[in-house]
Amino acid sequence: MQQSDLVIIGGGLVGASLALCLQYNAKHHGCQIRLIEPYTITSGYQPSYDARSSAISYGSKLIYEQLGLWNLLVEKAEPITHIQVSEQGHGIAIEMDAKEEAVPAFGYVIDNSWIGKCLIEALDNTVVHCQYNTEVRSLTPYAEGYEITLDNDDKIAADLVVLAEGGRSDIRQQLGIYVKQRPYGQIAIIANVTPGYRHLGRAFERFTTQGPIALLPLKDNHCALVLTREQNEASRLLALTDELFMEELQQAFGNRMGTFKKIGKRYSYPLILTESQEQVRPHLVLLGNTAHGLHPVAGQGYNLSLRDTWALAQTLIKSSKPLGDFVTLQSYLKSRTLDQKRVIEFSDQITRLFSNKQAILKAGRFFGLGLASMNIIPPFKHWFTLQAMGLGVNQ
Ligand SMILES: Cc1cc2nc3c(=O)[nH]c(=O)nc-3n(C[C@H](O)[C@H](O)[C@H](O)COP(=O)(O)OP(=O)(O)OC[C@H]3O[C@@H](n4cnc5c(N)ncnc54)[C@H](O)[C@@H]3O)c2cc1C
Repeated sequence: MQQSDLVIIGGGLVGASLALCLQYNAKHHGCQIRLIEPYTITSGYQPSYDARSSAISYGSKLIYEQLGLWNLLVEKAEPITHIQVSEQGHGIAIEMDAKEEAVPAFGYVIDNSWIGKCLIEALDNTVVHCQYNTEVRSLTPYAEGYEITLDNDDKIAADLVVLAEGGRSDIRQQLGIYVKQRPYGQIAIIANVTPGYRHLGRAFERFTTQGPIALLPLKDNHCALVLTREQNEASRLLALTDELFMEELQQAFGNRMGTFKKIGKRYSYPLILTESQEQVRPHLVLLGNTAHGLHPVAGQGYNLSLRDTWALAQTLIKSSKPLGDFVTLQSYLKSRTLDQKRVIEFSDQITRLFSNKQAILKAGRFFGLGLASMNIIPPFKHWFTLQAMGLGVNQ
């Protein structure tokens, strides 16, 4: 049986980021990291690095700067310098400007495929052994760690296993880890669109009675669209021609970006809030979507996971205990509980309030007032802005 100090299951955005966070210290201490992933970036489809783009918060940018990756990522990163939050049927919008927060940008929008490419290329293969085209089939605990069985029947023993295999984690299920699930009964339709006007770094979050719409600025005056709809409505929209889809989008989004000119291929994702009820066990950590999966409306899932990843790496680096020590892993989780709770509640509540027709009708006037007061009362607007930047409490 092969032996590894640390095995990361899943080389998606989160698994690869953890390897990067740890590789310098691992090399210094002669530790070996193994990253196991069923796909390679060049193998066409890789779930983590698909057609999506991610809004990378200012807080995440600071992490990538410390990892020395930002100078690569920035080549294809479009800064968000202005955020407008509005509700269909209400003339008032919250306007947030990066200058008012004294930062160059609230965040940056980057293609997932580019983030993936930069991450994988930055890994030092003398210390991080990437094993592609391989899937983990099962995990068996033993006193000093886990035995990992691969799909080719090879076995690896590891002192610490990090499970970063995404939201539909079979291994989590095998381990009997209960997952709290709150389905939204909604589908996210994503696509790249070309707006009529120059986006000038503006991002839009628009709440409609049918569900929220996010439009984020991308390079070359493209925008990343995330349109959330109930299941039946999403199926109808997905079946429309590009022209008819753009007409409906225009109606829901309004003319704030001019007339949409072009739309790329549409993809869809079912939306569900998932929270694993255990994130650490002796010799085991759950990270990324395996630990928690959020509604993408507020663009927080990856940013939150990156903060978890950074905190886990720092805890492991500072600990003098053996890798996999349960007390150390618990202290990592304790340091992350408040931020996780706050971000999960923020994105869940905002989604539920503004995607529920009953609630929105009742809350409509209140929301109009709410938006107005956010512009009038700077501390609340400032708080909202900090959440969007990934710079809320506990960071
Ligand atoms: C439409 C949409 C838009 C989003 N926009 C944003 C945004 O703007 N900002 C933001 O912060 N977040 C956003 N998110 C959330 C973000 O995409 C996720 O938080 C992030 O992708 C989670 O990464 P992950 O590595 O945990 O999981 P994944 O991306 O699912 O990666 C898991 C990896 O594990 C591998 N794997 C699976 N099973 C096994 C196995 N048995 N053995 C080995 N490997 C395995 C998979 O191949 C995959 O590479 C969005 C999500 C959606 C759906």
